[in-house]
Amino acid sequence: MAETKIIDGKAIAAGVTDRIARQTEAYVLKTGSPPCLAVVLVGEDPASAVYVRNKGKTAEKIGFRSIQKTLPADTSEIDLIAIIEELNDDPSVNGILVQLPLPDQINETKIVELIAPEKDVDGFHPINVGRLGAGDFENALIPCTPAGSVILAKSALGDNLSGLQAVIIGRSNIVGKPAAQLLLAEHCTVTIAHSRTKDIEDVVRRADIVVAAVGRPEMVKGDWIKPGATVIDVGINRVPAPEKGDGKTKLVGDVEFASAAAVAGAITPVPGGVGPMTIALLMSNTFTAACRQNGVPELIEEL
Ligand code: NAP
Repeated sequence: MAETKIIDGKAIAAGVTDRIARQTEAYVLKTGSPPCLAVVLVGEDPASAVYVRNKGKTAEKIGFRSIQKTLPADTSEIDLIAIIEELNDDPSVNGILVQLPLPDQINETKIVELIAPEKDVDGFHPINVGRLGAGDFENALIPCTPAGSVILAKSALGDNLSGLQAVIIGRSNIVGKPAAQLLLAEHCTVTIAHSRTKDIEDVVRRADIVVAAVGRPEMVKGDWIKPGATVIDVGINRVPAPEKGDGKTKLVGDVEFASAAAVAGAITPVPGGVGPMTIALLMSNTFTAACRQNGVPELIEEL
């Protein structure tokens, strides 16, 4: 059997951010100022703090202006609303991301719906969800993790995914459902599996493309995978790693990598697969949002 391709998400993400950095130079020449991403973090969740820091760092590296607002865990909903309204009204801010989850006293849906849809670089606002569902890619902002997952699938399979069987495990609003919409738009035959799916192994075994977005460490085993299939592992799970020493941990995906890699045609590792793509696509969405807001064509060749 042909050797399994390990999809290098880090390298592909670097390609995306390098392209945006070049486009940003041209954008600045045209508009006089860089695209601006504002990231809002409420509370001290360490994982969220790392994500937010990485987003800000990447934004600055590619030449964006980056605003980071870190608010205490007991911030009231009214105070957060005031901050978002201010960012919505500021024409120099092109993208707004509120890091989820939010503390219990804040209604997450209310906050997501408050972000101006044209600045909603996470793609979670109902207007963007609707545009994606309707196939309005001209105006939608697409959730970053599913968009990155499709790019990784194409890196293994080529741009034409038409007619392939895609099985997405997980039906969350942030990963599973938008991944299904994107693969449907690519003319795949799409199945969404979830916690109530019967005989899930058999469902997954039909797939040419498997997208695992479950949040259960190494749930998907090698014998669930059709030989030669492309496996995109979205899961990020921290598990104990006694082999590394007492109290040590490591990150694993939702797919059991070794057994799946023995069968798959191509597979993403964790870490180094979908994770870096999420940040790269956030930059891409911010650039897209800035171009749309300022009537600048997105293709660098046109600038
Ligand atoms: P989520 O909101 O918890 O959704 C998990 C989904 O998995 C649900 O639809 C659930 O089904 C389904 N599920 C749970 N147990 C199952 C089982 N035994 N069999 C089949 N399906 C099952 O999670 P999420 O936010 O989509 O995230 C999924 C994973 O991706 C997590 O590990 C998360 O950390 C990771 N993630 C990574 C990135 C990245 O940048 N790489 C970004 C976002 C998320 P029901 O709907 O029936 O409950």
